[in-house]
Amino acid sequence: MNPLDRAPLAGPGPLLLAPDAVLLPEGPADGYAVLVEDGTFRAVGPAAELAAARPGLDPVRLPGHLLMPGFVDAHHHLTQSFGAALAFGEPSEIFRRVWVPLEGALDEESAHTAAKLACYEALRGGFTTVADAGTRAGVDVEVVASAARDAGVRCVLGLVCNDADREPGSGPAVLDEAEKHLARYAGDPLVHPSLAVSIPEAAAEGTLRATARLAAEAGAVVQIHVNEHLAGVERSLLRHGLRPLEHLHRVGALGPQLLAAHATMLTPRELSLLAATGTAVSYNPVASAWKGNAVAAATDMTERGVRVGLGTDGTRGDGFRLAEAAEFAQRLAYGLTTGDSSCGAGWTWLEHATRGGADAVGLGARTGTVAPGRAADFLLVDVATPELALSWDLPWELVRRGNRDQITAVFVAGRLRMWHGRPTDWDGDALVRRATELARAAVGAARVERAHPTSTEARARQERTVIL
Ligand SMILES: [Zn+2]
Repeated sequence: MNPLDRAPLAGPGPLLLAPDAVLLPEGPADGYAVLVEDGTFRAVGPAAELAAARPGLDPVRLPGHLLMPGFVDAHHHLTQSFGAALAFGEPSEIFRRVWVPLEGALDEESAHTAAKLACYEALRGGFTTVADAGTRAGVDVEVVASAARDAGVRCVLGLVCNDADREPGSGPAVLDEAEKHLARYAGDPLVHPSLAVSIPEAAAEGTLRATARLAAEAGAVVQIHVNEHLAGVERSLLRHGLRPLEHLHRVGALGPQLLAAHATMLTPRELSLLAATGTAVSYNPVASAWKGNAVAAATDMTERGVRVGLGTDGTRGDGFRLAEAAEFAQRLAYGLTTGDSSCGAGWTWLEHATRGGADAVGLGARTGTVAPGRAADFLLVDVATPELALSWDLPWELVRRGNRDQITAVFVAGRLRMWHGRPTDWDGDALVRRATELARAAVGAARVERAHPTSTEARARQERTVIL
């Protein structure tokens, strides 16, 4: 197979792309093509029909490639990228000991660099959209927005609206900032505003209610970490006599505008509340494995019609490995004990990683699907590899056998952004070098408390320990 030529893909003009197949919601369509113009899919259909309709346009043949929607990361913390591995082996609620101190040590340059590094990793892994749950660095969120624009990824940008630890009566000021944030990015082609509350207990009841209303009116989402850890669930029970999700329901904060991150420890009643209110969930399986108390009942949620996307929570940026983790965690946590050898099958998790994620972050009408009128956010995936060429069930094979090595190109809003894992119009190596310098300084300055030693220290300790 000859490698693809990048030149015809990099131009500003309309593109008629003719891969081996296009991944549509109903499955792979062989011999299909797409017409990309002004950042959107203008037409999707049989290659011969599209070529006949636009005789002046030379089709770009993409042999050995699948064109599929870009992945949507429904839960990320872009300014935490300097410390991804600091979370390894840590007990739950690491935000208190690692993330808040680390983000607090960032200045404008380090926050921008951390966010752009996270966007770089995301794009390399096939994510064309990332939802940032709101930085706690003491910088204007525009720093994060500009990092996303510079990298070229679509970003749902959260503004933290916590008011429980502010001065009493600060609710109106928080809501004023929230309104300004929603207006500030209205109409931005790549940055989509969103509100965020870290955990339900971080905001007053009136603020939870008001942010829900403001977001619903603006067509935006409110991102809240919900029922992630046992400690948080029990604090809510002691304070309100209600679990966190029940508390949100009582104050009127559930609904289609809520993007509930994690939702791992839910009772059957809380699952019913999600379904009845149209609340969306970001299922974050790698975060559950690395630092969680439970795996979200995502197969059950799907069956009940709950809106589900997949999120990395900043763990690692590979869309295929995220989809695989989503399926794998369901099999281990639920499928093995019930004899469910399918757990929704591959397409369920591929769909949650793309279309479901776009819907969950409030961009269902904009991205997540290869369809006319949607943003041209897509991947060209090399399917002529030993892992994928002998295909019997491509959606499931992408989930179980795919990874970012097979992504040849990443397009966001119709523009080529990554080519074989490298940025097309900025210097990725220089960014990584600068991030390495700044990360050493930031982590060194932050009062990060870790319970777990590094692997090297842990090994040395183990060797020193004599069991009598
Ligand atoms: Zn999170």
